[in-house]
Amino acid sequence: MWQDCFEQKQAAEFLHRSLRNSRMAHAYLFNGARGAGKRKMALQLAKAIFCVKRDGDSCEVCDNCRRITNGNHPDVHWIAPEGARIKIKQIEDLQKEFSYRAVESNHKVYVMEEADKMTGEAANRLLKFLEEPPQGVVAVLLTEQINSILPTILSRCQIITLAAPMEETVAAQLIEEGIKPGLARTAARISSGLDEARELCQAEWFAQLRNLMIQLSEDIMERGTYALITIHDKLLKHEKASDKIDLFLDLLLLWFRDLLLFLLGRESQITNNDQMETIQKQAMRMSQRKLVNGMGTILVTKNRLAHYANLQLSLEDMVLRLQEG
Ligand SMILES: [Zn+2]
Repeated sequence: MWQDCFEQKQAAEFLHRSLRNSRMAHAYLFNGARGAGKRKMALQLAKAIFCVKRDGDSCEVCDNCRRITNGNHPDVHWIAPEGARIKIKQIEDLQKEFSYRAVESNHKVYVMEEADKMTGEAANRLLKFLEEPPQGVVAVLLTEQINSILPTILSRCQIITLAAPMEETVAAQLIEEGIKPGLARTAARISSGLDEARELCQAEWFAQLRNLMIQLSEDIMERGTYALITIHDKLLKHEKASDKIDLFLDLLLLWFRDLLLFLLGRESQITNNDQMETIQKQAMRMSQRKLVNGMGTILVTKNRLAHYANLQLSLEDMVLRLQEG
């Protein structure tokens, strides 16, 4: 239902209104960053078009709504890059398919993911298709890179920009779903949308990873060898942790940021605010300069690991640098 697209309230209301007033465009382009909810919006639009209720919304329970959700409605087609590109053959197949009458209604919808990945040939073929749209066909193009799409294609589409969802919106929704506020805010902050954030909150390893991060930070402040032991015995041996190091470092970065915010007196901006006591304790032992340097060190480590540096050595090096401040 449109109300499920609450992260994109404005766009959802606009599309709902267009449908209710039978003022649909032939082609839409949803432009927005990863996590903005483009696929969800496209799915909702398709359901609202085909739902037997015919009031501009979807009911989620009729046969059409259910089949679209499950990806097996005969008049709704999804196209995505095959390999790196969307090729002309895919557009030709689509055109052929759409030259037949709709199987079950007067409509046909196609959704093209990563429309910016079309080859030049494919884009030109699509343009022809957009210029002479068959009766009842609705195109929905999705992209994160609107600048890579031919202006001639853009001029045929109603462009709808989906802003990346606000972290607060995502966090508020998760809290409403019963997730602990500190965890919800952290997940919202380091993920790129509601679904990803919800998945993190539901995974046991994520909560464990967060606790481990707080433990490591504590050990670093102690300046003993515990920090290295924590890395060896807990982080690297943890079944899930070793392939989640990047996420772990994001959590650590966020934690250092919170410590800094505390020292700056901006407590209301702290993300991990279910851990205020620990944050206060740790922050009082650090200086602003050390925290800023520390954040730089964590970023350098993230960057090194992205270039396949040795995991254990990089983490040890990071810990020693953090301890030196
Ligand atoms: Zn329905």
